[in-house]
Amino acid sequence: MADVLLYGGSFDPIHHGHLIVSRAAAEAIGADRIILIPSAIPPHKRQVRLAAGEDRLAMCRLAIAGDSLFEVSGWELEQTGPSYTLLTVRHFREELGAALYWLIGMDSLLELHTWYHVAELADACTLVTVGRPGHAAPELPELCAAVSPAQIERIQKHVLDTPLIQISATNIRERAQARRSIRHLVPEPVREYISAHRLYTD
Ligand code: ATP
Repeated sequence: MADVLLYGGSFDPIHHGHLIVSRAAAEAIGADRIILIPSAIPPHKRQVRLAAGEDRLAMCRLAIAGDSLFEVSGWELEQTGPSYTLLTVRHFREELGAALYWLIGMDSLLELHTWYHVAELADACTLVTVGRPGHAAPELPELCAAVSPAQIERIQKHVLDTPLIQISATNIRERAQARRSIRHLVPEPVREYISAHRLYTD
C-alpha cells in the first residue's frame, strides 16, 4: 500500500515553494503520492479575501499537470463549513485506507496548538513539518500542553531537513497587485491563469 502525503493550504496561489518542499518531503518520508487539497475557509484566515475556490483548484491542476507524483482534490471545497484538517484526514483514511502524512510549514507548526482537536489529528496521521525561511525550529510550549509527550516526540521527529524556499503566496499577490513580475515564483501556466483572470489586480 502506497504511503500518501496530504498537503492542504489556501494555495492562493500555489507556488514553487509548495511544489519544491512537498516533493522533497515525499522523498524524505518515502511517500509516492502527494494530494494537494485547497481549503475552503481556512479557520485562521477568515478575514482575508481569497481567490475563488474554483480558481485556486484550477491553478493547482495547472501546476501539477504532467507530474504523476501529484494529484489535486477538491474535497474540502465541496464541503460546507470550515475545513478542519482532522475531518479531511478522516475522509481520506476511509477512502484510501493508507498510512497518511499531513504536511505543514514551520509557520503552521507554530500555530498547530490552535487547530481543531489537535491531539486526535496527531493520532489520525503523521504530521510532517518542513522548514520555512524566517521561522526557526520552535520550543512549542502551547503544543506540548495540547498533545501528549509521545505525540510531541513524533511531531519533532518528523521535522524534515528540506530546502528552505523563500516564496510566499502573500508576496506573490502583492507583486501581482503592484504589476510586478511573478515569473519563476509560480509555474508558468499558473502565471498565465492569474494574468488571464486578473486574479490579484482588480
Ligand atoms: P500566504 O502567504 O497566503 O499565507 P502561503 O505561501 O503560506 O500563503 P499556504 O497555501 O497558506 O501558502 O500554505 C500551505 C502550507 O504550506 C502551510 O502549512 C505553509 O506553512 C506551507 N508553506 C507555504 N509556502 C511554503 C514555503 N515556501 N516553504 C515551506 N512551507 C511553505
